[in-house]
Amino acid sequence: MKSSVVTGLLMTVLLFVPPLLFAPVDAPESAAPREEPKTVEESAPIRRDANVTVRVWDGEKIVETTMAEYLPGVVRGEMPAAFEPAALSAQAVAERTYIYYLRGRHKSSHPDADVCTDPACCSAWMSADSAREKWGDRFAEYEAKIEQAVADTDGQIILYGGEPIMAVFHSSSAGATAASGQVWTADLPYLRSVSSPETEDTVPNYYSVTDVSAEKFRSAVLAAYPQADLSGDAAGWITGVRRDDSGRVEELTVGGVTVPGTALRAMFSLRSTAFTAAAEGDTVTFRVTGYGHGVGMSQYGANELARQGKTWQEILRWYYSGVTIGPAT
Ligand SMILES: [Zn+2]
Repeated sequence: MKSSVVTGLLMTVLLFVPPLLFAPVDAPESAAPREEPKTVEESAPIRRDANVTVRVWDGEKIVETTMAEYLPGVVRGEMPAAFEPAALSAQAVAERTYIYYLRGRHKSSHPDADVCTDPACCSAWMSADSAREKWGDRFAEYEAKIEQAVADTDGQIILYGGEPIMAVFHSSSAGATAASGQVWTADLPYLRSVSSPETEDTVPNYYSVTDVSAEKFRSAVLAAYPQADLSGDAAGWITGVRRDDSGRVEELTVGGVTVPGTALRAMFSLRSTAFTAAAEGDTVTFRVTGYGHGVGMSQYGANELARQGKTWQEILRWYYSGVTIGPAT
């Protein structure tokens, strides 16, 4: 509420500013189609990051900071700083959007904070000191890129139907991203399966192999699915793989029981559900492509698109279907 006076003043001033003034913020930098003309609502005053309070749960206490202070730490923690500027900007906007999305959806692990620093719950966060240690000689260069990515996108978020989206992302995909409904229960219209350009040439450990002993496989599966019949030769345990449109394993039949690909991924710490499983002798071998849940923006894919010359706006519209980009209000 403390910002209402400022907002009010801004409103007064901005009422006299032609809406076009806001267009360059999200204006296509290449020959991409022009944005639709902004409505009065969309050209509302931008809530600049420095004026937005963010309450962060750091695992021990709530730290009150600003969006401008908080976002660089998330970009440092979530994306390689060597990535292209447009990819870093896309990451900054996804993070900013996610925080707006989380507001009003109280997470039980931190009901009084907007967001936390646990990557398993919200997003990783890295301090400038840790980054200095990690990046060494490149700290100044990388830090400048990250600050720029946040500043260049100041106040901008991703919207669907006028609302901030659940701007989830992952490290790398296997040719295409996964639709949200294929991984989680909610099928969100802006989290569809889209192609993603990264390959083994650009992603470290794009292909990985996980070997599990037949004994370990049997005990892990039986602990979760006691009705599975895993007697006899391991070669006959896995049958009937069903894949989604993106090629990820939706379900497998294991010992006659249906097991979701996501369950096997969790059970054996597979890097993604884009895998093949083959049992031979006393070993079950998973061959896995990509890393992460596969939903939303692929970070390595974003970097590839940036290398091809796409802007951060184009990258975000690539991975989040049917969205617009505009100021948080
Ligand atoms: Zn959290």
